[in-house]
Amino acid sequence: MVAGNWKMNKTPAESRLFAGKLADEISDELLSQVDVVVCPSTSCIDAVTEVLRGTRIFTGAQNVFYEDFGAYTGETSGLMIKDLGCSHVIIGHSERRQVFGETNEEVNKKLHYVLGIDLIPIVCIGETLEERENGEMENVLERQIREGLRGISHKELDQIIIAYEPVWAIGTGVVATPEQADEAMGFVRGLIAELYGKDAAERCRILYGGSIKPGNFDELVSLENIDGGLVGGASLDESFVELVKIAAKHS
Ligand code: PEP
Repeated sequence: MVAGNWKMNKTPAESRLFAGKLADEISDELLSQVDVVVCPSTSCIDAVTEVLRGTRIFTGAQNVFYEDFGAYTGETSGLMIKDLGCSHVIIGHSERRQVFGETNEEVNKKLHYVLGIDLIPIVCIGETLEERENGEMENVLERQIREGLRGISHKELDQIIIAYEPVWAIGTGVVATPEQADEAMGFVRGLIAELYGKDAAERCRILYGGSIKPGNFDELVSLENIDGGLVGGASLDESFVELVKIAAKHS
């Protein structure tokens, strides 16, 4: 899988144009080998799903609130993004955690909510540089998984995509080395195996995210523990098509 997180970039008109380019350039053959998801800003979802309707490129939201309706100024519910044509939603992105103070408990509420309305969650986890340097990486990832997935059944786990995104690699140009990514993602898969069994852990899709570019993706996606990428900066231009092609080689 290759998922693009456009963050707060592109206007509705720009999003429409770019989604059209992706639809033209990512062939059905590629889409039969790789799941491709684009996650525009909420204000652009409508424009993007309209252009992508009838293609096999999925649209996701970057965030969601865990109630259908109500007095939650500025929030958007899962029901609303689903109605706009989203099939996926990013939950617990590090920018949500760091800039907006989102906690593991909120991630867990959102996760239960979206699974209840058949949206596919891409749950982000990852340690900061400070946590890594203090030797806390495994503790942080374990807390994010245990608390984020609390109460999630075996059946529900099969619907969940996990994205390991070390915070120090997001938007910094510093990509994790294959060894660092493999070590962290092996740990995450091992923890999933402990909680849900080996088969479930093998089935679980775990993506890497953090400064992915066409020049570094091939090596990362060839690793056994990496099932694809969640891409920020390189999802905003032609590089995204290259990344899909690279992932297809490893499918
Ligand atoms: C992201 O925002 O999820 C991300 C991985 O960003 P970038 O690829 O720009 O590091």
